[in-house]
Order: sequence, then structure tokens, then C-alpha cells
Amino acid sequence: MTFDAVVVGAGFAGMYMLHCLRQMGLSARVYETGDGVGGTWYWNRYPGARCDVESMQYSYSFSQELDQEWTWSEKYAPQPEILSYANHVADRFDLRKDIRFNTKVTSAVFDESAGEWQVETSQGDQVRAQFCIMAVGCLSAANRPPFDGIDDFNGPVYHTGEWPHEGVDLTGKRVAVIGTGSSAIQSIPIIAKQASSLTVFQRTANYTVPAWNAKLDDEYVASIKADYPGLRAKARARPTGFYFPFNTNSALAATPEEREAQYEESWQRGGLPFLGAYGDLLFDKEANDTIAEFARRKIRETVNDPVTAELLSPDNVFGCKRLCVDTGYYAVYNEPHVTLVDVSKTPVERLTENGVVVDGKTYEADVVVCATGFAAMTGSFDRMHIVGRDGLTLKEKWAAGPGTYLGLSTAGFPNLFMVTGPGSPSVLANMVQSIEQHVDWMADCIAHIRKVGAQTIEPTPESEKEWVEHVNEVAAISLRSTCSSWYVGANIPGKPRVFMPYIGGFPIYVNRCNDVLTNHFEGFVTDVKDESNEIPEVRFTDRWRVPLDLEVISPAAIAAKKVPVV
Ligand code: FAD
Ligand code: NAP
Repeated sequence: MTFDAVVVGAGFAGMYMLHCLRQMGLSARVYETGDGVGGTWYWNRYPGARCDVESMQYSYSFSQELDQEWTWSEKYAPQPEILSYANHVADRFDLRKDIRFNTKVTSAVFDESAGEWQVETSQGDQVRAQFCIMAVGCLSAANRPPFDGIDDFNGPVYHTGEWPHEGVDLTGKRVAVIGTGSSAIQSIPIIAKQASSLTVFQRTANYTVPAWNAKLDDEYVASIKADYPGLRAKARARPTGFYFPFNTNSALAATPEEREAQYEESWQRGGLPFLGAYGDLLFDKEANDTIAEFARRKIRETVNDPVTAELLSPDNVFGCKRLCVDTGYYAVYNEPHVTLVDVSKTPVERLTENGVVVDGKTYEADVVVCATGFAAMTGSFDRMHIVGRDGLTLKEKWAAGPGTYLGLSTAGFPNLFMVTGPGSPSVLANMVQSIEQHVDWMADCIAHIRKVGAQTIEPTPESEKEWVEHVNEVAAISLRSTCSSWYVGANIPGKPRVFMPYIGGFPIYVNRCNDVLTNHFEGFVTDVKDESNEIPEVRFTDRWRVPLDLEVISPAAIAAKKVPVV
């Protein structure tokens, strides 16, 4: 069978890509490993899973009717509600008929003579398509550390990102949680309520800010809906792709009393916007030290046992690892049945039939929860056999770190697009906005290629090199690139250390994509040259042509390199 396009993945990215391809009148087939839509929200069903970008903004913006008809119930919607939303979108836009569920794409090989991709799946499908769109997600390949003795353990071992659909009753169980990232921090307070004992194994302490989650009141929802396009436009102009009050002043220019008041006010607002307390927090270590110390003091004020409080207090740069957002995380360590075990110097040695062994001591457990994260950004690519020109596999090409042009495509792999690929703002921005902007750009690109009668488009190695250098150069300005995080692949043994997302800010990035498109896909080559002087049509990307609002972009960053760094 032959399609115009094959899309891999049916999360927010794959669903919207299918919708756009349909609108363009193209034939498309989507393959999805899971048996339903929603991606992240299909897989991550652990207790407490919810978004950390406010729901009113963490949602599609392409349809004003959808914006009006869907109503979020909480500031940060829980996973079941986000999954319902994904299902609603699939039904409303009649997406399911072109999606094959329970079907994993195992290989995608470029046939140079035909200029097409040959795609194979776990179900034995063999299809061809001119375009292959990887909508496989940045945080979709679960990282299950191969702990010794894991098969000896008498109970179940769950991963938060592959949580059983039927749910897990942890009532009265002795539970061990390995990891203290966002997934652990969301789930631990709820697990603690059910478990008879909870042992948390912490390798690196993480900063977390209270969510102050709440039901959304009708008046607030109505006020947003009265001008939803206005909110979306403001969000697009922000480095993070979502709107929140942002103070561009320098933390160091403030007096200690002023800083204290500002941090307290931002803490009371909670969530990721806490980092917007000052404009230089991610550029200047001295400024960062002030917010880090404020956060550590909050831990000491909450956790009664000074040794545990100290252990929970991170010593790295605040916001360097992805900031966590919680409900009642630190307070849980005051519960007598909750224990924190430091595995920073003495790692998890092994699992035995009875539990988890660290430094020769067994911590007994009935259930082990691995909240150990993902092989981020490249993991789902690595788990497929992707072959471009001259038999080069993507794995070989990316062995020293992923190289892309704009995070959209990679040289030597014609007509292969990636939604929120490495080198795009992706995980540093509101992901739904990032996804929509990428998909819209791809849709206009594909339409253009077909209009000019070309078969292939791909970036030149030079444009890719220039982009990778720019991504690295901008990353170096931010303190975010200085610690061992999944942004640099540090959580996966052997993975090359490269800062993968583009840190220059969403609007600057969008501007660049717009310019590339209007300059006749500058940096790309096609097999048929576009000789016209006409500017390519901007049917889908038109809505991203918003003016940059430089006032909200940190002046410290502008002074440094004329880029906003998120
Ligand atoms: P995904 O949702 O990951 O979907 C990719 C799909 O591709 C998956 O369903 C997967 O099964 C499928 N797939 C992969 N490989 C194959 C293959 N070979 N064959 C077939 N199918 C395949 N971002 C935010 O901006 N705000 C948030 O609040 C937020 N919260 C998050 C909470 C959690 C617990 C996690 C893990 C991530 C969160 N993220 C958040 C990031 C989140 O991943 C994105 O917001 C978004 O959902 C990604 O959508 P996607 O379609 O790009 O990828
Ligand atoms: P994560 O942030 O990578 O955290 C994984 C945790 O497991 C870390 O504490 C890590 O320690 C630990 N770990 C990994 N391997 C280990 C090992 N062998 N032994 C001991 N500890 C080990 O993963 P995550 O919590 O799933 O979150 C990933 C991302 O998904 C987040 O950063 C965020 O972008 C998104 N997310 C968002 C939300 C939300 O609030 N909406 C919720 C969940 C996830 P080290 O730090 O030392 O590596």
C-alpha cells in the first residue's frame, strides 16, 4: 500500500499531523504502539500524573471551536482528563479511521530510486509513503535501568511511564520508589497515602515548587474563553510558549528584603512560573544561588528531620534539571512510614526476592516503582531501524549526538520530518504549542513540495552544521546546560552528552522557521528547483507570524547574545 504520508505516533503530535494532512487532501496512515490516542497521557497513568503547564494553555489552539467547547476542570488537569481530551479530539475530527493501533513501526528505510520511505511494522504491515513524519515524542521511551536481580523480586516492578491501565491498588503494601524526578514527586504523596511503608531511593535531589492546584471556577474559565485567541497570542510571544507574569529585573539588583518578598510572592503563585521571579536566574550563578537558597529554606521549614531535609536539598543550579511541580511532596517525609534513602554514592546494588539492596542493606518491599524517566528526545528514534541515503542509519548518524536542522529534519534523510526533534524548543516550551508550530510548518512545506512537483526535500549538511553550532552556542549561555540532566542525556549510561533542546526561546525559533519558509526553504535542497519568485503559501503557518514582544524576553539574555534563553 502506498500513502502520501506515514505518521509514527498518535500523541498530540501525530493526531494534529493527521488532521492537517487530511485538510490538505493527502492520504495518510498513522501507526501507534498503544491501543489508543494520547501518547504521554495514554502511557503515564501513575497516581498523581497531571500537567505542569496550566491546562487552559496546555491544549491545542488550532480550533477556536474546540477551545470553546472543551472545559478544563482544574488549573493542572489530571491525566485521565487530558486523556479524555485527546479522545475527544480524535472523535471530533474523526481521526481514528486512519490510525492503526497496537502497531509499532519497526523500520523506515528510504528507497533512493523511488524517493519514498518503506515502512514496516510489528504487525507485518509494509507500506510506502513519500513523507515519513516521526511524531514519536520526546519523553516516550521508558528508561528501565537493568537492576541486577530484578527477576528475583517477588512482587511487581512498575515503571511510571508504562503504568498498568487497570490501575494498581497499593493499599497496605510496602512500596519502594526509585527516582525523585517529576513523576516520582507527583506520585509519592499519593502512594504514601495508600502504602503501609514507602521507601524512596534518591540519586539526585530535585527542586520542586508547589502547584497550588485548584478547581477552575466558572468565571475564570469564561474570562479566558472570552478572548482565548488573545491568550494564545500572548503565549506564543513568550520564550516558554505559555503565558505567565514574568519579572525581567535582575535578582542581584534587588535588596535581600526585596528579593525575599519577590520570591515569596512567586512561590505563592507556584509552579514553573516561579522561575520568572527574576530575569537573570538562569544566566548568573550568583543570582541563581539566591533562588536556590530560598527553595532550600522552604525544604528546611517543611521537613522536620534536619538530616532528611538536608538530603532533600539540591546543591545544583536551580532550574537546571527540569523544575518539578508538586502537591505535598516535602511534607510526606514527616510521615513515620516514609523513608528516604540516599543512593548518590552507594547506588541501588540489586533487587532480591524481598526488596531493594543498597550498601548491603535490604529495604523490604512488596512493590517496586521505577520512576526512572526516559531515554529523552532520541530514545524512540533509537528503538527503530531508520535508514537514510547510502544505507546510513539514524543511530550511526547520531552516535555522537543528534544533529538536525531546526529540530525538524536531518541531512541524508529526505522527506523525514520529526515533530519537536532535538534542536527545537520542544521540552523547554509548552509542548502542545511546539507541536502545533512544527506540524503547521511541515504541512506548508509538504504542500509547497507537491506544488512545485518535487519528490524530495532535505537539509544541506552545511545548514544542519550551522544550526547545531547555534543550538550549542545558545545552550552555553544558560546555566541550564551545566548539570547532569536528561536534557544532556546524562541519565542514560553511554549516551553522548549534548544539550538537546533549543534554548533560544520559542518566538525567536518560530521567527527563524518562518524566515526559512519564506526564503524558499533556505538551507534545504529539493530534487526539483523552485524557480518561481512567489513566496511559498503560509496556509498553516500564518498564525505563527506574531510580532516578537521583546519586553517580556529577559534583557540579561538580550545583552549577552541578543537571544532570549529559557
Ligand atoms: P507522545 O505523547 O510521547 O506520543 C508519542 C507516541 O508515539 C506514543 O504514544 C508512542 O507510543 C508512539 N510511538 C513511539 N515510537 C513508536 C513506534 N516506533 N511505532 C508506533 N508508535 C510509536 N509537556 C508540557 O508541555 N507540559 C506538561 O505539563 C507536560 N507534562 C508531562 C507529564 C508527563 C508525565 C510526561 C512524561 C511528559 C509531559 N510533558 C509535558 C511532555 C509531553 O510528552 C508532551 O507535552 C506531549 O504530550 C508530547 O506529545 P507527542 O505526541 O509529541 O509525544
Ligand atoms: P526524570 O526527571 O528523568 O527522573 C528520573 C529519576 O530517576 C531521577 O531522579 C533519576 O536520578 C532517577 N534514576 C534514574 N535511573 C536511576 C538509577 N539507576 N538509580 C537510581 N535512580 C535513578 O524522569 P521523570 O520524573 O519521569 O520526568 C521526566 C520528564 O517528564 C520531566 O522532567 C518532565 O519534563 C516530564 N514530566 C512532567 C510532569 C509534570 O509535572 N507534568 C510529570 C512527570 C514527567 P538522577 O536525577 O540522578 O538521574
